[in-house]
Amino acid sequence: MFLHGRDADGRLRELSAQRARLRPVLGTLAAAVLDRRAFEPLGFRCLGDWSRERLGVGARTLREWARVERALAGLPLLRAAVRAGEVSWTVARKIVGVVSPESEAACLASVRGRTVRAVEVMLRAVAEPATGASEAAEENRVLVRVACPRRVAMKWAAALELARRMAGESLPTWACAEAIAAECAAAGAAVSPPPPDRCSPLHSARAPQRNAESGLRAQVWPHLAWTPPAVPGGDRLERLSHGLDRCAPRALDRRFREAIAFLQQIDIEIGRVLRQVVERKLYRELGFETFERYATERLDGSARRLVRLARAEHRAPEVATAFRAGRITLFQAEVLLRGGRVDRAERVTLRRLEDEVPEAEVAFRAPRDVAILFEAMVARVGLEAMLDHAIVTWVEAGRAFEDYADFGRDGFRCTVPACTARRNLQSHHIVFRSAGGPDRPWNRTTLCAFHDHRGVHAGRVRIRGRAPDRLVYTLGVGRFRSGDVKL
Ligand SMILES: [Zn+2]
Repeated sequence: MFLHGRDADGRLRELSAQRARLRPVLGTLAAAVLDRRAFEPLGFRCLGDWSRERLGVGARTLREWARVERALAGLPLLRAAVRAGEVSWTVARKIVGVVSPESEAACLASVRGRTVRAVEVMLRAVAEPATGASEAAEENRVLVRVACPRRVAMKWAAALELARRMAGESLPTWACAEAIAAECAAAGAAVSPPPPDRCSPLHSARAPQRNAESGLRAQVWPHLAWTPPAVPGGDRLERLSHGLDRCAPRALDRRFREAIAFLQQIDIEIGRVLRQVVERKLYRELGFETFERYATERLDGSARRLVRLARAEHRAPEVATAFRAGRITLFQAEVLLRGGRVDRAERVTLRRLEDEVPEAEVAFRAPRDVAILFEAMVARVGLEAMLDHAIVTWVEAGRAFEDYADFGRDGFRCTVPACTARRNLQSHHIVFRSAGGPDRPWNRTTLCAFHDHRGVHAGRVRIRGRAPDRLVYTLGVGRFRSGDVKL
């Protein structure tokens, strides 16, 4: 069903208003998790490990939710305007850092009714930038995208893994790409392009332009019969964020997941509407030059991700259904769009799912200088030769670690489900040495320092069985067996 620009915009405003009602709940929950470090008693090393696994949200986003909610608590006028939908959350987020209780009324008068873009211009005029340096860096990142055959994609995954092992931490993809390209650049002429007959069909392109017209004919539009998502009434929502100080970490986790499930019901609808807006260029009809400009005014954050999900709906309807029902998170859904099954995603951790379903292309956002370096090396020697060089170099360097046979067996990372730690690894005795546990491979597993000292020895995580394949891990959020499979 086709929507006209005005209809699409009206629906999106309605959906955004529903999202706005969830905001205080999400912000309060995020602040409670952060204040109490509730992820630790649940057996997670850091906020991001917990939030990615349980909510499908990154740590930075969660901190932002908490920061804005805390700031609004001291700014009653602004808070009321946000609640009433007069000021968008995106605008609130940009200005809470520069508004004080004294300047609140004046500031509110100047931003009310203004677009996000206009507020950004205003903020640039005041001395102190409202957004942090890291956020500005994030916004300046460019997309690097290289299509490649599956064989090369597997090498890409291997090179990322090795880069993280070498660094001893879970580097972001762009930092791995920088290491891969730098390794190749350092080798100079030693890495040469493959002979022409071996050239893989590579091309590098920034965000390939879709042909909207041909795309339209081939696509199936989901039926957009307008039934607003069944987000519960105020009482039920309020209940989720009430009495949090008396809430045990496990209950906090459950409430947060419930709130995220409501958010996902709204977001899937937002994705459907936005997909029409972007593919049929309805934003022009509404007076915006680009989709990004339009999306910024109506939504915070994840517009492109929701459009991708909506686009995949006809080829993977079960993913959209599971997402809408809150059975899988956005991160899980994104992996499943590359392949894999919903029931598998429900049974294993996100980190296992990501290992099982490799990327089918090389795509990441990177600071401009890293993107330039990476693309230059791809142009000079080809993606595959560059990856081969990094892999050979790092496998060679990794031989120095071979004394640590357990680490190699366990993939140079902590074996506790969903843990992303690769640093300060230690060999842990499953039956403690003090309890007569033998120093044999089956009684040893690799743990990060947190999971050794503050997990197992603090009683937050329990490990039983035989390494490597027959271990059972008990965390605050449930039990898992080796390989991150839920029990
Ligand atoms: Zn760990």
